[in-house]
Amino acid sequence: MYSQIYLDYNATTPCAREVMEAMNPYFREHFGNPSSSHHPYGWLAKSAVEDAKNQIATYLGTEAEDMVFTSGSTESINMIIKGVGQKYGDRGRHIITSKTEHKAVLDTCAYMESLGFEVTYLDVEETGLVDMEKFRAALRPDTILVSIMYANNETGLIQPLEEIAALTHANGSLLFSDATQALGKVPVIEVLKLVDFACFSGHKVYGPKGIGLAYIRNSQDGMGLPSLIHGGGQQKGQRGGTINTPLIIGLARAIEYSMQNLEKEADRQQQLRDQLEKGLLEIELAASNNKSELRLPNTSNISFPYVDGEKLLTALSSKLAVSNGSACNSASVEPSHVLLAMGVERSMAYASLRLSIGRYTTAEEIERTIQIIKEAVEIERENNILWERHRG
Ligand code: PLP
Repeated sequence: MYSQIYLDYNATTPCAREVMEAMNPYFREHFGNPSSSHHPYGWLAKSAVEDAKNQIATYLGTEAEDMVFTSGSTESINMIIKGVGQKYGDRGRHIITSKTEHKAVLDTCAYMESLGFEVTYLDVEETGLVDMEKFRAALRPDTILVSIMYANNETGLIQPLEEIAALTHANGSLLFSDATQALGKVPVIEVLKLVDFACFSGHKVYGPKGIGLAYIRNSQDGMGLPSLIHGGGQQKGQRGGTINTPLIIGLARAIEYSMQNLEKEADRQQQLRDQLEKGLLEIELAASNNKSELRLPNTSNISFPYVDGEKLLTALSSKLAVSNGSACNSASVEPSHVLLAMGVERSMAYASLRLSIGRYTTAEEIERTIQIIKEAVEIERENNILWERHRG
């Protein structure tokens, strides 16, 4: 159907066949409402959802009660940030986050500001890592929440959270980490031990769209958050609305498959990523925006100076599915806020490509991608007066 090579797996992934097979019976055959407690249709659905939840909890090393099913990471992020604000707002009204977060976090923080909360948007270092000096200085007695993502969707940078967690908790604040891009790519069990809240999304791990998780540590022990969606009392009142049995079954199967194949797949993708970067960095003046060793195995972010980023993407679009930042942001022609925060020059940020490899990427596709980008960059530069001048 598509002739383009797909290298936009951080935007979304196709739903895996085994996931669809697992979900299928729950659309027609076992269609009962898990909240119908008076007949077998409901009993079966309820028990399938409980099994799926327990299975996910085992893979994530958490308690089943500490998870709320949502529609995806954006909803989980809203639930967590707004929920903490609502629940702990009388203790303090200060939130810390970083300038390189996903827009779902940044926009929710902006909303919190409109409610009178104060938000500190931390600078990052050239690598993209949080500037720890600035973090220490930003913590205040009235800081109720720190929201720092674990893996960046645009650069793949992994933020070590040990020190951030220790400082946050020593300050009496709570820690939320958006781990959407980490799930299925790198282990997350240790991360969940450090944080109070986290979020995940099905469609980033070859599961269906429209399902995600909010992780809320000790949620039954007084740490639960107010519901974002009211009505029906489902999920112990943490999120109203009929429980989506097929999508939950699909999420569990997707997580199971990803976790079982994590190491093997991460090694394979990392090799492909290195092959891709080696080829693309042969292009004159091409510069990698991945400046830290700690990074996702599948994500490359590279700038090609003297190229108009929008024109390059348009030129590539008949052959390649790639992006220049977050998919959720792709309506904007502004350069990536993540790269700008890392101090990447505006023109370089504008001339960047994010390439994210996935389960179905092959070495042959990577070779073709390198050739396609090399040719496209050359053609774009031929039409660029600044490139002519640069070459003298
Ligand atoms: N957080 C990160 C890091 C993401 O990459 C995304 C998706 O692009 C989201 C949050 C939002 O996830 P969802 O599409 O499930 O709402």
